[in-house]
Amino acid sequence: MSAKYKTTIGMEVHVELMTKTKMFCSCPNAPQDLPPNAATCPVCLGLPGSLGAVNKEAVRLGIRASLALGCTVRDVAWFERKNYIYPDLVKGYQITQGEQPLGEWGHVLITGDDGNEKKITIRRLHLEEDTAKLTHVDGATLIDANRSSTPLMEIVTEACIDSAREAEEYVRKLRAILVYNGISRCRIQRGEMRVEANVSIAPPGAKELGVRTEIKNQAGFNHMRSAIEYEEKRHAEVIDSGGTLVQETRGWDDVNKCTFAQRSKENAADYRYFPDPDFPSARIDPAWVEAERKSMPAPYEEYIAALRSGGLADADIDAIARNDALGFLRVAAEADAAKTALLAKRLVKDVFALVNSTGTPLDSSKLAPEMLRDAVALQESGKINADGFRQVLARLYAQGGDAAAAAKELDLVIEQNDDAVRAAIAKVLAESEKMVAEFKSGKTATRNALFGKVMKELQRKGDPKAVGALLDEMLS
Ligand SMILES: [Zn+2]
Repeated sequence: MSAKYKTTIGMEVHVELMTKTKMFCSCPNAPQDLPPNAATCPVCLGLPGSLGAVNKEAVRLGIRASLALGCTVRDVAWFERKNYIYPDLVKGYQITQGEQPLGEWGHVLITGDDGNEKKITIRRLHLEEDTAKLTHVDGATLIDANRSSTPLMEIVTEACIDSAREAEEYVRKLRAILVYNGISRCRIQRGEMRVEANVSIAPPGAKELGVRTEIKNQAGFNHMRSAIEYEEKRHAEVIDSGGTLVQETRGWDDVNKCTFAQRSKENAADYRYFPDPDFPSARIDPAWVEAERKSMPAPYEEYIAALRSGGLADADIDAIARNDALGFLRVAAEADAAKTALLAKRLVKDVFALVNSTGTPLDSSKLAPEMLRDAVALQESGKINADGFRQVLARLYAQGGDAAAAAKELDLVIEQNDDAVRAAIAKVLAESEKMVAEFKSGKTATRNALFGKVMKELQRKGDPKAVGALLDEMLS
């Protein structure tokens, strides 16, 4: 941005919460995994006479998100109806939190444009319900209400962000914290995280902010950054040419790389908010909040620092963070923190190899953290070898299940019976008279060839160390 104007940005981020059921009914919260309109009921369709109940797990995740972001959790929070007419809003109103959000006044730390640590202030964090999904095909519009009333959390910052770069870093960091804490998967391509930026510019030192435009639901971090930078430039051009900016909502056209007007921005009064009579104000028990606080994992920044001081290379930490696997690692090492570095290495080397070879991201695979932990333990105890470990891992990645059972089913459990190993060695030595003679005459390299034959005889189920030791003993 030129020195002529100063940019001010506020961010609103919506994330879908990882609950099993919807916000006010027991329909499954799996909008994209079921046929259209299969996950609906009178409550989430807003049929007259229906009455839902607040999803406690959604509130719990909201409390945990508030704590992870340093917000104060209110002890009274209520739901309100936000009234507007739009085809994706099957009820004609959205249940949200207005005056009494669940969490207030938290922050996310980023590196500011001046290179110093900067606190991005979170003004509020509230719970609400999502809308249905519209799909436009051949001039018609299809409505899928599976997403209608799934639990949504909105996180709003103060207008304290100075550039598109700061906005991007804020959203990346916020996403990492939410994924790490198991609040949301935040898969942007699936719409599980949706970002809106309110952008305005004004001469430096101006008392009032300029007219702001809201850029809606950019599909990715790159889109968001481009859209904000485009708006900064557009605002300056309009002002410099003596034009007037209008407060409005704009979308991002990624083909033509520009924003376009979508609708003039409503004011809060247009929505006629009023307390939802079905969900009167609820007290959040402070003891509950304290219990959640105690069971929270180490804060994100602390966890990263602990990994670093535990000897993990920055490149490995970055790879784990990039694959959204910090939370996965934390849970895998929960029972024995001393195993963190070992599990991290397996994650980077073996699990991410599966991410690449299968094209399935870790969080869409069947591999759970406990499965990785158990598979690593099998190898550590010598029950499977490195090759067996990789096979077990690939099976668990595709199908899930129990590591020990997978090792057995795949016939990978190592022959730990010395007699069986001795018999295999004896057989190989008897069949390889020439190689044994070569070895005895000083050609020591032959030993490795013999070792390979023994492992083959054991169908690769031998423990390399134990087999090697027995082979050396029998050769001498
Ligand atoms: Zn329902």
